[in-house]
Amino acid sequence: MTAEHPLTGRLRKYHSNFYYVEAEGVLYECALRGIIKKEGTEPLVGDFVELDSVHLPSKTARINRVLARKNAITRPKLANVDQVIVVYSLKEPEFDPHQMDRYLTHIELAGLTPILCISKADLAQTETDLANIQTLYADGLGYQVFFTSVKKPESLDALRALTKHKISVLAGPSGSGKSSLLNTLNQHLRLRVGEVSEKISRGQHTTRHVELLTLFEEEPDTLIADTPGFSNLKFNYVLPDRLQEVFRDFAELRPHCSFSDCLHVDEEGCAVRADEAVINGTRYQSYLNMLAESRLYKEAASVSSQKEEFGYKQLDRKGKDALRILRLKEKNRDASRRTVRQQVSLLEQHDQAEESLEEEVQESETD
Ligand code: GDP
Ligand code: ZN
Repeated sequence: MTAEHPLTGRLRKYHSNFYYVEAEGVLYECALRGIIKKEGTEPLVGDFVELDSVHLPSKTARINRVLARKNAITRPKLANVDQVIVVYSLKEPEFDPHQMDRYLTHIELAGLTPILCISKADLAQTETDLANIQTLYADGLGYQVFFTSVKKPESLDALRALTKHKISVLAGPSGSGKSSLLNTLNQHLRLRVGEVSEKISRGQHTTRHVELLTLFEEEPDTLIADTPGFSNLKFNYVLPDRLQEVFRDFAELRPHCSFSDCLHVDEEGCAVRADEAVINGTRYQSYLNMLAESRLYKEAASVSSQKEEFGYKQLDRKGKDALRILRLKEKNRDASRRTVRQQVSLLEQHDQAEESLEEEVQESETD
């Protein structure tokens, strides 16, 4: 290893304070260079990292540097995700367009383009079951939609081709057939199928132990996360304006609304509301439900940021109770001019910090 050509690899797994990095076909157990932790720039599974102190016989090394990542998601914590495939069954459990829309919207908000996999297609009673989904999501919204059944392995061919040389995350409710799908793509994976209750209890405690699996041995760079993504997410982290932005259905109509900050609910001159086909569809109802959550979040965010901006000035008065005067904290005077969006982003960071603390506690309980 020369200084000009340090060994780089991909972080595949994090467990019990060790990072497992795959480099040139070897899986190294790595510690982290102290400064990285201090700077708070710890690598995420999926990151490319630079190694030093490489010791091939013991397969150990140290992570010296985290290379730039193109994106990151929080559930599970992963970097450089190429695609998210929403696996939703046609039946058992019954396809629910509103749930599907929730997944799609979370993924769009994360800056990724979802791919739809409608599983258990063998349970279709009529052709229209499938055609309706195709019409809404593929023809109407331009998403890629695949209909699959593990009883017909050839129905997975197109999906298999799509995963090549990429990092994929599967999303979708428990029981929708995600493990079955992966087992059919690669018989060697042998993931547990159908043990839903066990998976749920396991899932709560292992959120940090995400691992990237090699989907096909002959393709080391075709990777898939072993943990489903975007589960149990509410829309309590996004502002209404941003939410409406990711609705593809509104794209053509939005510029014709009278108000540029239109949320397409009851505003005058709303072009979205004027389109009967849009407001009578399932997607619009999904939107209203998400919007309600997002509005609650906005209210909570602005109340909490107002609280932060004020402090108390204590005036000690002889013989009397101290007088507390509400005043703007010096350092927060400028903050009062911050936009709501910035304040919300601060809150998000705070929430995330709390969340990772919670996870750390859970982790130390399970380790
Ligand atoms: P996961 O929780 O999303 O990983 O779902 P599983 O892979 O554990 O599957 C849940 C149940 O659906 C199991 O009983 C599977 O046998 C069944 N299943 C999965 N894929 C299919 C399919 O393509 N067709 C049918 N009929 N059943 C399936
Ligand atoms: Zn509007």
